[in-house]
Amino acid sequence: MPTIREVYLLGVEHLRASGSVEPAIEAEVLLRHALQWNRTVLYTRWETPIEPEPFSRYQELLEARATGRPVHYILGEREFMSLTFAVDERVLIPRPETEILVEFVINTFRGSPGPRTPDPGPRQLVIIDVGTGSGCIAVSLAHYLPQARVYATDISGPAIQVATENARRHGVAERVVFLEGDLLAPLPKHLLRSVDVIAANPPYVSAAEAPMLAREIREFEPAVAVVAPGDATAVHLQLIIQAPRWLRSGGLLAMEVAAGQADPVRGAVIGDGRYGDVLVLPDPGGVPRIVSARTQRQ
Ligand code: GLN
Repeated sequence: MPTIREVYLLGVEHLRASGSVEPAIEAEVLLRHALQWNRTVLYTRWETPIEPEPFSRYQELLEARATGRPVHYILGEREFMSLTFAVDERVLIPRPETEILVEFVINTFRGSPGPRTPDPGPRQLVIIDVGTGSGCIAVSLAHYLPQARVYATDISGPAIQVATENARRHGVAERVVFLEGDLLAPLPKHLLRSVDVIAANPPYVSAAEAPMLAREIREFEPAVAVVAPGDATAVHLQLIIQAPRWLRSGGLLAMEVAAGQADPVRGAVIGDGRYGDVLVLPDPGGVPRIVSARTQRQ
């Protein structure tokens, strides 16, 4: 049998030839998945001959990747906020940028960076995650904020199934309620004017830009999670309009935006007239990524 090193290098070449932009890391991840080895084990056994079974599993994984299917769908999972989320074609693969949104909300309610907030005290923190997808925002907020009760909506029933599985996996199912429907529409009316946080990572690519997306996204990720209905920021604008009905006075609206959208979205928040404390937070690459604001106290 060929050695681990040999099959790794073959995999890198195969993925490179099929158009992968990260062939080395992807071949390594798929090889470790086939072998069920962690990095340390792999790095100490390069010269070991590969067993026939993991070898054929690895070849299948490489073939799947060569069709353009994203690595995380092949593996069936993705790390987010140091938690492992189940993912498949029913949901958007969580992105590292979205961790900034989640960290911002966590920090806000832990009293460290972010706008100061009146301590919600022993009462529950009510959080809404709009367009929950895999549930990565809802579940990680419930995990890191034990005082939180989260309502997570999604227009996609299949996405809600994945998110529900992820809430169970992380032991927060009792504090996360999933509701199928558009934006804030499925929320129970008793939440009106009482919500502390509305968080969302809305679809933010316009239909006109959609054909330019990478093949992995275009062909494999759910279009409803990626492409906004109408203008690229159509969902953000809807949320800016609808959120104050649900937020308590001083409640927080925090949304992820694409590169180039922070200024117009911030402008819409200010122009709305019902918000204050408008903040824009950059991602580690310096791209403005999160727009947040609080409803004005009356
Ligand atoms: N909330 C999920 C995420 O951030 C899904 C977002 C979406 O589908 N647009 O990954």
